Amino acid sequence: MNINDYVRDIPDFPKKGIIFKDITPALKSPEAFKYIIDKFESTVKDIDFDVIIGPESRGFIFGAPLAYKMGKEFVPVRKPGKLPSEKVSISYELEYGSATLEMHKDAISKGQKVIIVDDILATGGTTEAIIELVKRCGGEVVATLFFAELAFLNPREKLQNVLVESLIQF
Ligand code: AMP
Repeated sequence: MNINDYVRDIPDFPKKGIIFKDITPALKSPEAFKYIIDKFESTVKDIDFDVIIGPESRGFIFGAPLAYKMGKEFVPVRKPGKLPSEKVSISYELEYGSATLEMHKDAISKGQKVIIVDDILATGGTTEAIIELVKRCGGEVVATLFFAELAFLNPREKLQNVLVESLIQF
């Protein structure tokens, strides 16, 4: 299967000059979606870990089925104001402006090993922020896993101390 065929470029979304990588064609094809989740599983099957974190919202789409398939815990990281219980929160810089992410304080216990799963690795800022949130809860991010990586943005510069895996690179 050529999984590149299931990502389409949408120019000037959400802002002029940004080429948005739309992964919805991969969700509309049961074969492509299965290929991605199965490939994720084979990529991390030998890693010892307890929890999958998926950032809102496309991290939910890819992270939750992988957690289900591998019998692991799933923890959502959300945009501000969505989680009901006690939270840890972090703000970080985006290409334009800044963003905040939140996670339940009791979502990760001390010593737990975590894999972060998301659709696109772009600047790496989101992933770097989540690694810090996990650290604050006493956990450890052992790997990060993406459907597609925008390698031309050099995200790995921010993620030098963690394993980074992506199925396709642009
Ligand atoms: P970053 O923090 O820059 O690595 O961006 C990560 C998040 O932003 C991911 O969850 C992506 O879903 C989204 N994102 C960033 N750039 C793009 C893009 N060009 N196309 C689609 N999604 C993107």
